Amino acid sequence: MEALCPRCTQPMNWVNGHYHCDSCNGDYRQLAACPDCGQPLQELKACGAVDYLCQNGHGLISKKRVRFSYQPL
Ligand SMILES: [Zn+2]
Ligand SMILES: [Zn+2]
Repeated sequence: MEALCPRCTQPMNWVNGHYHCDSCNGDYRQLAACPDCGQPLQELKACGAVDYLCQNGHGLISKKRVRFSYQPL
């Protein structure tokens, strides 16, 4: 999955726990939202994998369905 910069839509690199865009020199954090209710998802980290849990009753959301957005740090 490729993360695109919200400012210049160039692919970003994952650096030290956040995304960095070389094109505009911006740092962004990834926000995961439920595709059904739009609420932020809780990240459950286990053994290198991340599961996304909707606390609004939609349960675990597969990564393919998660709506990602990027917020400047
Ligand atoms: Zn950029
Ligand atoms: Zn939900």
